[in-house]
Amino acid sequence: MRFYEVDIVRPDLPRRWTGHVVAERAWTLPGVECPTCGETWSGQQTLPTVDVTDLPQQGLLREPRVVPYAEFTALTAGLASRLPRGLVPEPGMQLGPLRGSARGTFGPLTTQDGWDLLVRGDALTRLQQGGLKGLVPVRMELEGLGPEALPLYELELPIAGRLDPADVLEGPRCQTCGWREVRISPEHALEVDSLPDDLDVFLPANATTYLMVTERFVQAAQRLGPSDLMFREVPLARR
Ligand SMILES: [Zn+2]
Repeated sequence: MRFYEVDIVRPDLPRRWTGHVVAERAWTLPGVECPTCGETWSGQQTLPTVDVTDLPQQGLLREPRVVPYAEFTALTAGLASRLPRGLVPEPGMQLGPLRGSARGTFGPLTTQDGWDLLVRGDALTRLQQGGLKGLVPVRMELEGLGPEALPLYELELPIAGRLDPADVLEGPRCQTCGWREVRISPEHALEVDSLPDDLDVFLPANATTYLMVTERFVQAAQRLGPSDLMFREVPLARR
């Protein structure tokens, strides 16, 4: 099986579609100021399936902000059991479906940042019928799509596999907040033995802003017609 990295279309190349979304999620865990390592940081994990409406402190998770690390721990009490796949609360983590407005027309697949994947309703049905594995669609709550437009879904992306550790320079992890410096080589490979065999789309655990898909996914995407995203084959590293 070959694997590919998803990326946005280079800005100097023409685009087929005009669709654009301005939206946010119901909840955002605050960023943190850490007394141990001195860093102020927030990550980029998004979990559209997670609903924390009934957490007592949910009203304090509405606005993006930065808090001292001790306050972060208190604000996220009871949250870990709501997160899928054993994930733990991370500063900056965003929860709930995207809500907002859409403009323009959307192709079958759209990526806004290169680590997210939006799927038009008809395209989602075809991907599911094609037997692609690991698709977790969440309908986006958008105004402005127009009465004739198909609904848009966002895929919740599982974290699985990893890049070859030789391509990822990781500093020591802060004992308090978990922050560490990470530098990823632009010429990176996926570590063969770590790769999932039950997912056609995933984010590597040591590089969660790099969206990976299988050859099977790329073939299915090409059958959907043109989309404004790029697939670049990623080499495989064996150890
Ligand atoms: Zn720290």
